[in-house]
Amino acid sequence: MKLLDNKVALITGGSRGIGAAIARKFAEEGAHVAFTYVSAASEEKAKAMEASLQELGVKAKAYRSDASSYQEAEALIESVLADFGQIDALVNNAGITRDTLMLRMTEEHWDQVMTTNLKSVFNLTKHALRPMMKNRGGSIINISSIIGLMGNAGQANYAASKAGTFGFTKSIAKEMGSRNIRCNAVAPGFIETDMTHELDEKTKESYLSGIPLKRLGRAEEVAEVCVFLASDRSSYVTGQILSVCGGLSD
Ligand code: NAP
Repeated sequence: MKLLDNKVALITGGSRGIGAAIARKFAEEGAHVAFTYVSAASEEKAKAMEASLQELGVKAKAYRSDASSYQEAEALIESVLADFGQIDALVNNAGITRDTLMLRMTEEHWDQVMTTNLKSVFNLTKHALRPMMKNRGGSIINISSIIGLMGNAGQANYAASKAGTFGFTKSIAKEMGSRNIRCNAVAPGFIETDMTHELDEKTKESYLSGIPLKRLGRAEEVAEVCVFLASDRSSYVTGQILSVCGGLSD
């Protein structure tokens, strides 16, 4: 018996990086996996990923859907329910950065990050709750960031969006606990993905010096924590922030 046997998971932003690692680990643990991507450039990768997950013997499907759109999120949940019948775990992972110092930050930089990283969490959660209630339970996992706890120069928009997910997570945990719906946040530190490849070497070096484990994390290490939170092993864990950061945040 695997940890996620017979569970259906929906993961936003599953075409690359942390989301792709979560999709793979979930499938390896027996979950049926629905995942999304947004850009046309990721279509081929998403289809290849869908096929490789199916080879693990589970049902898997990629959907092109913009998590920042309320309407697209609603349509996505309907499609996933039609294709998979239920949603046991929702992983709100889709996210972007538009880093720049506040003096240079435009309204567009702010809005893009807030809608993709925070409004998306509302959009997906809002539409996933009813089917989860019908199913008498569920696990919502919001991929936030330690930047939401610590702040970071040049990331005021990103830090605000990620800090917002903490308040959202704790509120949903309180609101939905009596329905056996759990909601937790995962706060990764610096993980090797396309997002951190954009950082220059000097910035990476300065981060590394502050990380007790002295290395960047791997997407799979974040995925392991998500497996735990999606599984019944975490049945009494809700409203929590789990940092996966090599000890960087206090
Ligand atoms: P990534 O490699 O840049 O991948 C981002 C993923 O999100 C892609 O699958 C992308 O789809 C998808 N996406 C972006 N905007 C979307 C939208 N509007 N609708 C649906 N999907 C969308 O990023 P990552 O490093 O894996 O980060 C994943 C999450 O972890 C993010 O929330 C990020 O803030 C958080 N995080 C990352 C780190 C880190 O060090 N990497 C640290 C802390 C937190 P396309 O392929 O179609 O573009």
